[in-house]
Amino acid sequence: MPTYDYKCTECGYKFEKFQNMSDEPLKDCPECGKAVKRIIGGGSGIIFKGSGFYVNDSKKSCDSCCSNGKCSSN
Ligand SMILES: [Zn+2]
Repeated sequence: MPTYDYKCTECGYKFEKFQNMSDEPLKDCPECGKAVKRIIGGGSGIIFKGSGFYVNDSKKSCDSCCSNGKCSSN
């Protein structure tokens, strides 16, 4: 199950969420309730190719930086 990175367009709050590919993307910031943007790829180790297909690339080496929230800044 891929991890999706979200960033709030209002307050800049960043968080990660485990979701199925088929799940609805989150819309609301848990901090301020404004709209959040889903960040795809961006150094998280998951590269999307076309619709619904992804490869898990260098996930291991990226786990530490993802937990620090650095991946989603790309
Ligand atoms: Zn927010």
